[in-house]
Amino acid sequence: MSKALIIGAGGVAGVVIHKCCQNSEVFTEICIASRTKSKCDKFKEELEGKTATKITTAQVDANSVPQLVELINKEKPDIVINVALPYQDLTIMDACLETKTDYLDTANYEPEDTAKFEYKWQWAYKERFEKAGITAILGCGFDPGVTGVFSAYAQKHYFDEINYIDILDCNGGDHGYPFATNFNPEINIREVSAKGSYIEDGKWVETEPMEIKRVYNFDEVGEKDMYLLHHEELESLAINIKGIKRIRFFMTFGQSYLTHLKCLENVGMTSIEPIMYEGKEIVPLQFLKAVLPDPASLGPRTVGKTNIGCICQGKKDGKPVNYYVYNVCDHQECYKEVGSQAVSYTTGVPAMIGAEMVLTGKWKKSGVYNVEEFDPDPFMEGLNKWGLPWKENFDPVLVD
Ligand code: NDP
Repeated sequence: MSKALIIGAGGVAGVVIHKCCQNSEVFTEICIASRTKSKCDKFKEELEGKTATKITTAQVDANSVPQLVELINKEKPDIVINVALPYQDLTIMDACLETKTDYLDTANYEPEDTAKFEYKWQWAYKERFEKAGITAILGCGFDPGVTGVFSAYAQKHYFDEINYIDILDCNGGDHGYPFATNFNPEINIREVSAKGSYIEDGKWVETEPMEIKRVYNFDEVGEKDMYLLHHEELESLAINIKGIKRIRFFMTFGQSYLTHLKCLENVGMTSIEPIMYEGKEIVPLQFLKAVLPDPASLGPRTVGKTNIGCICQGKKDGKPVNYYVYNVCDHQECYKEVGSQAVSYTTGVPAMIGAEMVLTGKWKKSGVYNVEEFDPDPFMEGLNKWGLPWKENFDPVLVD
């Protein structure tokens, strides 16, 4: 008997909502709250009568702590699932503290005016969450999220120490547009146009954007170009996994995506510096978001598969071990099930499972945590049960 307050009504939220409604034994009630209430009402209309979960909706500006506190006090949820934007993480955490409510998100905070995401802002809440006796789970989508659980599972079952982790995120999907992003365009473009980085011997090594390229042959997808990016889970895994010497993150991009991105960058369209346009201040990247396809609309058009996982190299009983754990997810299967493409699906399913872990007491500790700090086993079972089954390979091709 638990109630979740889901904040946001975009692509990822749609999957969280569907999955909570499939898991009515745990989520007996949900309240969907977002900036645009009509989007929340649409989900309620679609699902009501098809689920035992009771659904309510509300309007909220998640930048406003007083509005959030009022909503939480009225709805009295057992957990808040934040699937709005990373800009709202701190205000929602503040409201959770004030109301003593558990918290979960899928992306770490970044200030709107500096495209730099890191955990320091949210880790700073640790003591206050401990004192309040509430749990915050950070970054519980696929990457970050499942990639952290995969690493913790590898550590628990197959390694004494993991020295190298390569996280490979492949999207072999095709939506038929010359250029579109698979999740919020503003957040996505900020991420991929930033400098790349990885951790080696305890230090960050910075690269130019897309400077390091590799080719990898992905199971069920085929050969793809992939590029080294900075990614948030590197920061927490380097601390939480024993013996790490190097940890890197690679994401696949097609040539058309990169050519369009370069052109948009060259003309200044990806800038987050405000400019004056006909007497009004606009941010070029926010304007670009307004003209690009809404990621939530890509579902029916996207075909192909994603393949995301971790290659771990290390030692067990003094012997070298290589281990690759990954999930393959089919865009059209996701669309048939919940009306979304696989990028939203692979993010929303883990968010629901993470919330279930907290609500059922399996991941309930006071404080602020990354997913790899908990027992991975019940979460790994949840992935198999709720639509993201994983595969293991003990002789993977390694990335040089
Ligand atoms: P969308 O842009 O589709 O949805 C964001 C939602 O948040 C919209 O409904 C939007 O409202 C709402 N929102 C924005 N600002 C506010 C506000 N101030 N108050 C209330 N609601 C607000 O994004 P996605 O669903 O694609 O992504 C959601 C999150 O998931 C992002 O944080 C993203 O970084 C993260 N993500 C994580 C991944 C992972 O693997 N860990 C992968 C992909 C995404 P409105 O409809 O009015 O605009």
